[in-house]
Amino acid sequence: MNNSPFNLDHQNEDVSSKIVSALERISQTFRVLLWEESKKFGVTPIQIQVLIFINFHSEEKCKVTYLAKEFNMAKPTVSDTIKTLEEKGFIEKKHLKSDSRSYLIQLTKKGKALANKTSSFTSVLQQPINTLSAADKDNLLTSLFGVIHHLNKTGVIAIQRMCFSCSYYKFNNYHFCGLLNKELKTNDLRLDCAEHQLTLS
Ligand code: SF4
Repeated sequence: MNNSPFNLDHQNEDVSSKIVSALERISQTFRVLLWEESKKFGVTPIQIQVLIFINFHSEEKCKVTYLAKEFNMAKPTVSDTIKTLEEKGFIEKKHLKSDSRSYLIQLTKKGKALANKTSSFTSVLQQPINTLSAADKDNLLTSLFGVIHHLNKTGVIAIQRMCFSCSYYKFNNYHFCGLLNKELKTNDLRLDCAEHQLTLS
C-alpha cells in the first residue's frame, strides 16, 4: 500500500498520518488568514510576516541574512521584500558604521501601526486553543515542541530559538533553564526566547 498520509486508505488506518494531515490543514489556515489580511492592507503575506517579525524581535535579528534563514527564503527575495516595504514607507534602513553594505531594518511609525494591526491575524485559530484544558494544552505544546525540534535537527527549519536547542537548557527529570536558574514547567518552555543561545553540537 502507498503509505502517504494523503492516501486515504492508509490515512484512515494510521493515527500518525491523520496528525500529519491535520497539521497540513492548520498550515493552510495560516496561508488563508495571512492572505485575507494582506488583501485588506494591500501588502503581500511575506511582507506582513516580515513586519510582524521586526516588530517583536531585537535589532540584531532584523538583518537580511537572518530574515532569509528565519523565513527559509533566498537572500535576494528578502532584499526585494525589504526594498518594497521601504518604498511603501513601512521600514527604513539603518546602515552600520562598521560595514556600509550591511544595515539593520527598522519599522517606521506607519510600519509599526500595520504590524500591530495585523499581528492578531491568527485570532480565529487561538479561539479553539483557548478552550482546551491546561493539561491538554501542555500535552499539545510538548508534542509540537518535539516535532519542531526534530524538524530543526534534520535541517528542515533553519532557525529555532526554543528551549530544546538552547545551551542554557538542561533536562534531568525536569526542564531547567541555567540562565533563569529555575525549573521550567511545561507551560514555561519557550518557543521563541530572546535569550536563547544555540547549543553547539
Ligand atoms: S534561555 Fe530561554 S530558551 Fe534558553 S533555556 Fe532559558 S528560557 Fe529556554
